[in-house]
Amino acid sequence: MSQNLSSPCKLRVAVIGGGISGLATAAFLRKCPQYSITVYERRAADFKETSATFGLRGSGISIVKQLGITKQEINGIVGAGYRIYNTREELMSKAQLGNGPDGDGDLWFVFRQDLKDALLRRATSEEGKGKPIQVIYGSHIVRVDPEAGRIHFTDRASVDVDLIIGADGIHSKVRTAMIPPSHPQPAPCGLSVYRFMIPMEVFKESMAAEGRMPDMFNYEEGYFIAIVAAGDEGNRNVVMLPCRGHRFMSVACAVPDSILKNPARLEYSWNAKGSVEELVDNVRGFPEWLGRLYGRMSQVELFQVRDQEPLPSYVNGRAVLIGDAAHPMVPYQGQGANQCLEDVEGLHTILENLSNGDLIPDQLRVWDSIRRPRASAVQQSARVSQSKISTKEATQALLAVKPYVRMKDALAARGATQAVENPHSTLAGRGYSYSEIWSVVANTQSTSFKELEGTLRDRAIDAISQAMRMTFVLVPVARTVMFVAAMLMKWEKPSGYGVAVGG
Ligand SMILES: Cc1cc2nc3c(=O)[nH]c(=O)nc-3n(C[C@H](O)[C@H](O)[C@H](O)COP(=O)(O)OP(=O)(O)OC[C@H]3O[C@@H](n4cnc5c(N)ncnc54)[C@H](O)[C@@H]3O)c2cc1C
Repeated sequence: MSQNLSSPCKLRVAVIGGGISGLATAAFLRKCPQYSITVYERRAADFKETSATFGLRGSGISIVKQLGITKQEINGIVGAGYRIYNTREELMSKAQLGNGPDGDGDLWFVFRQDLKDALLRRATSEEGKGKPIQVIYGSHIVRVDPEAGRIHFTDRASVDVDLIIGADGIHSKVRTAMIPPSHPQPAPCGLSVYRFMIPMEVFKESMAAEGRMPDMFNYEEGYFIAIVAAGDEGNRNVVMLPCRGHRFMSVACAVPDSILKNPARLEYSWNAKGSVEELVDNVRGFPEWLGRLYGRMSQVELFQVRDQEPLPSYVNGRAVLIGDAAHPMVPYQGQGANQCLEDVEGLHTILENLSNGDLIPDQLRVWDSIRRPRASAVQQSARVSQSKISTKEATQALLAVKPYVRMKDALAARGATQAVENPHSTLAGRGYSYSEIWSVVANTQSTSFKELEGTLRDRAIDAISQAMRMTFVLVPVARTVMFVAAMLMKWEKPSGYGVAVGG
């Protein structure tokens, strides 16, 4: 039975998956009155995760802040950076992060469930701009038709919508319908991770029994993520950080699949159970206090880390993939959730002023052309970082993520670049005479803009895109060159401003 969720003048949006990506999307898009949005989540409403903590970086922090989410609300702790040790507890590499653009930190330690709860509140609360979003729990999507905008449920019901947002994680059913089966599926990267949270009083008790507090937990310089890397063939490593307002120590302990007793039974799941005895056995060769500390746990989770070759596209017809459905990655640059949030902010920018549903496929393609290169590059650099975790370059590799460019700025820069490279087509049809257009073309082509490279070129594009919002732009580049860009300029009445870019 096909059901048409008709809502006379509204565009119907189905968000598949109520994880970080799906809930953040709902929280952003509820502000847009032209959409009627429903989130479909296969799990029950009372499902709670118990162990995953991650580091939210600058881009993610600024995006959750746009939703009014504060560090306090999500029990976040401001992190100072990363310190990497060998198994003799010698410091091998250290990266200290700045304090973020607004002085509120550039790294927050966040428990995933706390962030999901906050996003759910932003999406569904009566308070806030727009209408509360409905989340339908226990609804399992089995298949989608991206061209028709149709989603099918396990009970054979189906729903037609204008836009399908696939936020259904690494095992995405939406992706299956969009990407050719010949594309490699998510595959194990060779490591599995034990995850658990040690209550802080248990941690302190254990350290008191050892008679010393290891240096990696000395937080006088700030709260560092401590990574102990074995430097062995299997790339075993342990990651520890305080979380949930210092009430817990979060632990992730990675071991090669090959040393697990029964690797074949491993399924990728956030909540599969692992054996404490096996964990203690698998950290042999690490400082002995770690085995004794972990031995105090009654239960740990274990999951296999997987990633996927970058996809050829995140969009198809009326469907778009975001988050782990689009770009599952290994956790060695702490970027999975950040990339989810960057996807969502970009999607909101593209969709916020759209009212004609026929334009959705085109707009999704624009989003894809900006988001996919960035997220694919992060997927690949996270792999490189994983391979370097026990080397001296580890912290450098961990931080090797280019700064985030917001979708608004990326679009403006693209507009500026297009205007520079093809001023004729930019100005055509805007009321200029043929000779006026050719004056601009001649001016533009007489510059050395195309010869600029590296940061100077980036700065020129930034400056131009900023200035393009004005009527008329004069950009002196590298002292000698005057760059002229015009968008809404009337040639007879030049006005605007100049931006110094070069030295
Ligand atoms: C050990 C580890 C450490 C990490 N550390 C970091 C870090 O430091 N920094 C960072 O930014 N990221 C980190 N990440 C990654 C981050 O947690 C994920 O990238 C992010 O949570 C993915 O969110 P998502 O919403 O896309 O997917 P998910 O969280 O997987 O959510 C998908 C949702 O879709 C639902 N769903 C699935 N299938 C269906 C269906 N057929 N029908 C309906 N609903 C469905 C699921 O139930 C789930 O609720 C880490 C990950 C791991 C494993």
